[in-house]
Amino acid sequence: MQFTEFSLDKRLVTSLEHMGINQTTEIQSKAIPVGLSGRDLMASSKTGSGKTLAFLLPAMQRVISTKALSKRDPRVLILLPTRELANQVYAQLRLLVANTQYKAMKILGGENFNDQAKALAKDPHFVVATPGRLADHLSQQHLYLNGLELLILDEADRMLDLGFAEQLRAINKAADHRRRQTLMFSATLDHGEINDIAAELLNEPEHVAIGESHVENQDITQKIYLADHLDHKEALLNHVLKQQHKQVIIFTATRDDTDRLAGKLAQQGFNTSSLSGNLKQAARNQIMDQFSRGQQQILVTTDVASRGLDLLNVSLVINFDMPKFAEEYIHRIGRTGRAGAKGDAISFVGPKDWDNFKKVQLFLKKRFELSEIDGLTGKFKGFKDKQSKSAKATKTVNKGTKPTKGVKATKAKSKDQRDKRFITGVDVGDAPMLRKPKSKLQETPE
Ligand code: ADP
Ligand code: MG
Repeated sequence: MQFTEFSLDKRLVTSLEHMGINQTTEIQSKAIPVGLSGRDLMASSKTGSGKTLAFLLPAMQRVISTKALSKRDPRVLILLPTRELANQVYAQLRLLVANTQYKAMKILGGENFNDQAKALAKDPHFVVATPGRLADHLSQQHLYLNGLELLILDEADRMLDLGFAEQLRAINKAADHRRRQTLMFSATLDHGEINDIAAELLNEPEHVAIGESHVENQDITQKIYLADHLDHKEALLNHVLKQQHKQVIIFTATRDDTDRLAGKLAQQGFNTSSLSGNLKQAARNQIMDQFSRGQQQILVTTDVASRGLDLLNVSLVINFDMPKFAEEYIHRIGRTGRAGAKGDAISFVGPKDWDNFKKVQLFLKKRFELSEIDGLTGKFKGFKDKQSKSAKATKTVNKGTKPTKGVKATKAKSKDQRDKRFITGVDVGDAPMLRKPKSKLQETPE
């Protein structure tokens, strides 16, 4: 389909031409008409399939072609889980707004609060924000949302994972009127508590799902290597990095691991940077900026960078540790293989990763073949069901390629693991408040 078939404002079509984009992707052809119709929408499609324009174009068209409900309040509010993603969406929005008289602004955690308050006083039409900071401004009455026409939640499920439910509810309440439209997007919308919040925020939404979230992006080749311990993972990593790659993103479980591993790789002469949620915002921006311009070859990071980032030269994603939330696997590997390009994803699974690996298999409803590298095959072959982490690998253990039975046992555990996630030093980026137990918070609210 061509974008011209949507009867979009000419200026939008011109902006798309400047971006070199003329044919819609599948999600765009299905979601844009719903967006334009004014109905609420829950939309999912695989990573890198063009969801951003699927919501930005209807948003632009609405602002251009209808009269504002209020002169002062923002007309469109776009919420995202991380600042990096908000920056990226804001950059795309700027390209579309540039041809028009409308003002767009971003309101992110980690940046100067008073400057933001002043900027909000200039009455932007579009606000791109992380939920924590936006809710702070709302409670300080630096903006009102009575006139909000369109609320967009990108990577909505991740915002819930990060504990933003309360902020989303406050924002929803401040913009509670009949004429508001709400759009929700993610590659993974079919799990967890997302349905509860969707029921609160959306009004009889249309559902558009291109493929199911557990059907992986076919452009990404996935490999799994078993590893005995940390040194073994590092040996595997060295082997993998010896081959030719464009840019590489390596995901680790915690911020400490990120820094340690990045340091080691830098010592070995790799052009490496590391990004984690504890850095100052200016440093985070600089790291992302340099990486996206190709100045660094390797980015070592945590799940703070798993969502949404559109980095076109990433040809390899490595899960040095498996993610704790199964759906993050899809998002992490989705940093490669974008917009039709091919990519590789490699995961190291050690004894500590085994439970999380099983959860990924359950989520994807598939059993991975295990790969081996000559000379780097270890002893660990996976655990038998229910033995798990505490058990020792024995000679009689299955090859690890067996389907993971005992779904129930894994499910029962996963709630536990979700809670544990917040006390084990896992990087949750902009999380404002962590779910349980609150007394052990490690993150500073933003
Ligand atoms: P998603 O949010 O689904 O992960 P993005 O919106 O980040 O995907 O888009 C991924 C990449 O595809 C971006 O670089 C974007 O510019 C590009 N893109 C988006 N729509 C199209 C299109 N219709 N044709 C070609 N490229 C597109
Ligand atoms: Mg996206």
